Amino acid sequence: MKMIGLIGGMSWESTVTYYQLINEAVKEKLGGLHSAKILLYSVDFAQIEQYQISGMWEQSAELLTDAAKSLEVAGADFIVICTNTMHKVAPQIQKALHIPILHIADATADVLLARGIRKTALLGTKYTMTQDFYKSCLMKHGIEVVIPNRQEIEIVNRVIYEELCVGIISEASRRKYCEIIDRLKREADAEAVILGCTEIGLLIKPENSVLTVFDTTRIHAEAAVAEALNG
Ligand code: GLU
Repeated sequence: MKMIGLIGGMSWESTVTYYQLINEAVKEKLGGLHSAKILLYSVDFAQIEQYQISGMWEQSAELLTDAAKSLEVAGADFIVICTNTMHKVAPQIQKALHIPILHIADATADVLLARGIRKTALLGTKYTMTQDFYKSCLMKHGIEVVIPNRQEIEIVNRVIYEELCVGIISEASRRKYCEIIDRLKREADAEAVILGCTEIGLLIKPENSVLTVFDTTRIHAEAAVAEALNG
């Protein structure tokens, strides 16, 4: 079994989910007392969020590159960055490493394509929804991406940072997210919805959504286990 190097803490609420899902998948595949081999480097999310709102992406790239290099030196065979948003700086981090980064958007695109989805809604932070770094990854796999309107983007983003990342799960926010998903189905013809933020799965479950849900945390965790057990 390969050693998985997790860069977590963004936020720790979803890193907990990664740790659980990865171990559950290893247990399911290998049985008995098996559990995953994991190294975790958990950062201070307050620092990352400050860099985000100040547009200091180079500084966050440096911080996460240091984390990734520590994991490499400690024996990780590959890196899993436990957030969609910070994949914005994945290319810079990858340049400094000898081991691969398992990219969350590539893993997600593979699952969508396997399910025959060609047009999907994307929910995530405002960076993930409005900037190119994430959508272009999906589009290069031939997947069309639709995002919420300006007002909805503000709502989705606010709920992530002010609620989900600090452990608040609100029924009102769940309803709001469901309305947005419903509108993207009716008005933009989305065939599915990507939960493109690693905390959204804490709020939206498949049974809440009128569209088929693709939870990037689950997809990424399962891809990590497939990679860890591969060969
Ligand atoms: N975990 C979230 C994501 O998947 C948001 C937190 C962050 O900005 O990294 O994008």
